[in-house]
Amino acid sequence: MAAVTPGLVCSHHHLYSELARGMPAPPKVATSFQEILEQVWWRLDAALDLEMLEWSAKLGALEALEAGTTAIIDHNETPNAIEGSLSVIADACQEVGVRVVTGYGVTDRHGADGARRGLEENKRFLDVGGRCLVGVHAAFTCSDESLQGAAALADEYNVGVHIHVAEGPGDADAPERLAGLTNDRWLLSHCVYLPTDHDLKGTILHNPRSNLNNGVGYADPARFSNPVALGTDGIGANMIESFRLAYVMQRSVDVTVGPDPAWSWLENGWDLVPEARDDRVTWSYDPMDPWHIAFTAGIHPVEVVVDGEVVYADGAPTRVDAQEIRAKAGEQAARLHARL
Ligand SMILES: [Zn+2]
Repeated sequence: MAAVTPGLVCSHHHLYSELARGMPAPPKVATSFQEILEQVWWRLDAALDLEMLEWSAKLGALEALEAGTTAIIDHNETPNAIEGSLSVIADACQEVGVRVVTGYGVTDRHGADGARRGLEENKRFLDVGGRCLVGVHAAFTCSDESLQGAAALADEYNVGVHIHVAEGPGDADAPERLAGLTNDRWLLSHCVYLPTDHDLKGTILHNPRSNLNNGVGYADPARFSNPVALGTDGIGANMIESFRLAYVMQRSVDVTVGPDPAWSWLENGWDLVPEARDDRVTWSYDPMDPWHIAFTAGIHPVEVVVDGEVVYADGAPTRVDAQEIRAKAGEQAARLHARL
């Protein structure tokens, strides 16, 4: 017996961060979300080159397939390897057979020129027909000009903006900074410190494992009137695990709730990448019902079909060599870690 579902969607991922595993500990223990950014992620992203990014993305795409995830909404930040980065990610996912929507996270962290180059990479990728949402890191690392420029570029190409919003207390003024810029195509990631009553439009992306890992608190996404979808924020692409965590985190503040709301957040990914509805994942467990899955560990795909092609079967991808990807990613991780 096996159950079949559409391909799952990871609505917030950072494929550049797959090589972070095993990285050396930061020089001092980070004591806040801001320090975690400064001592871990902003050191890592600055050390990445395009070759590292390529194998990081292939590893992330491989692990997505291994979890039955056929579509990834990616948010890239490689400040010393901006130009061409979105094509590297798209090509890596194409090779493995996973759908990807990517964008470059515009930020003024490296000056106005860095922000301009980030915006230009989004435009370049859109111009070559790339599947793109204009990326913005977060309001708190962007000038008003950068925020307005990203919103205008997205409007020009009729796509949304993919941005971190109020993930930590340092971005609590995001609703004011983004006032008048958002629309229903925007994706707002985290929103832990976003007031329940706010004027931002778009889908809120809930990342339960990442929020726990950063100690930022519970976003309680059920309080918002916006649609909610589930992401991982770069820690793999196992959406069954994300659903299970989203359910128990909601349960931790409301013991009357069942798994259906968290499951509906997972299903909302299909509104963001509709093609994934036509993909087919055959699972090790039957039935794939939220009331079963919430209480069943170790569910995994047996076969994954993307756009009519079997891309994963018998425990292995069909287009690529999983062992080769893991070996090459390991070599690139060693290069990366040596730079930190
Ligand atoms: Zn993120």
